[in-house]
Amino acid sequence: MKTIGYAAFSSDAQMQPYHFERRALRDNDVAIEILFSGICHSDLHTVNGDWGKQRYPLVPGHEIIGRVMDVGPQVTRYKVGDKVGVGCMVDSCQSCDQCDHGEEQYCRNGMTPTYGAPDRIDGTMTQGGYSKHIVVREEFVLRVPDALDMSRAAPILCAGITTFSPLRTWNVGKGSRVGVIGLGGLGHMAVKLAVAMGAEVTVLSRSARKAQEAEALGASGVLVSTDKAAMKAAAASLDLILDTVPVRHDLKPYLPLLDVDGTLVIVGQVGDMDDFASAPMIFGRRRVAGSLIGGIQETQDVLDFCAEHDIHPVCEIIRPDQVNEAYSVMEKGDIAHRYVMDMSGLALDQ
Ligand SMILES: [Zn+2]
Ligand SMILES: [Zn+2]
Repeated sequence: MKTIGYAAFSSDAQMQPYHFERRALRDNDVAIEILFSGICHSDLHTVNGDWGKQRYPLVPGHEIIGRVMDVGPQVTRYKVGDKVGVGCMVDSCQSCDQCDHGEEQYCRNGMTPTYGAPDRIDGTMTQGGYSKHIVVREEFVLRVPDALDMSRAAPILCAGITTFSPLRTWNVGKGSRVGVIGLGGLGHMAVKLAVAMGAEVTVLSRSARKAQEAEALGASGVLVSTDKAAMKAAAASLDLILDTVPVRHDLKPYLPLLDVDGTLVIVGQVGDMDDFASAPMIFGRRRVAGSLIGGIQETQDVLDFCAEHDIHPVCEIIRPDQVNEAYSVMEKGDIAHRYVMDMSGLALDQ
């Protein structure tokens, strides 16, 4: 199938329209017309080569919302016209213990990311959602509930699941005290989801500038990390901290905020962090942990949870040809919303 997308042709160039082919349907494949495509901070890291050498042209995008156009003969769960989504993975071995219990993101044989990785069967490079169409095996296709606004649902598939999974893993519920570091794409979803789960949520920020935004999202307040007195007064006041900052940073100021047995979960930065002292961990049995997206069932769960609680990411809808401008804004720092491309602005004859 012929399609068109926006691709990076090298690590330092602007993204440009790119004509390419999607594979012919295999028996268990679903062909999707992409309607909306979210722009994730990790797209930017990947395109820039921050996480290792890439093969170009590279079509990023792993927050995909669309409609089923066609299905292979063995597909049972989807039919033409269904509203569907695709997140950060498009395949895994489907036979190891992690895949068996629904944590395909930790597949023993390595999951296949939505873009920039070899397909398990034919070895071609996967290409992501900044495109008109995608073909994905049905096990990795998600159902988009009717209650969700399709134009604002895409970021649930990465920013949403990445924060939902650790909130569930660490049993956040009524009365939990949750801190969120960073109020970008991930952070703003973390606040909304944790509030809906019944938690009391504090946003940790370098300035009070974000206070209004944080409160509008449902947070009970902002703790300014550069305010030493306020940080000291907040010692041992949190059960869980979600650290969504996507660059190297210092954990030292945050660990004392955790109560005994509290956990700080890193979901933003992949790579080196500044040194941190072990004392706050020992004197308080605190933990520093990490978490990667979530499994396929859990991704369906977060879509359903957002539908049930009327949670939508804060989105700014842009045209596909504005992608390079969006990247330059994101490179300058956190924005408390997600850019989502309306893919109807991209035509095959472009
Ligand atoms: Zn992402
Ligand atoms: Zn597996």
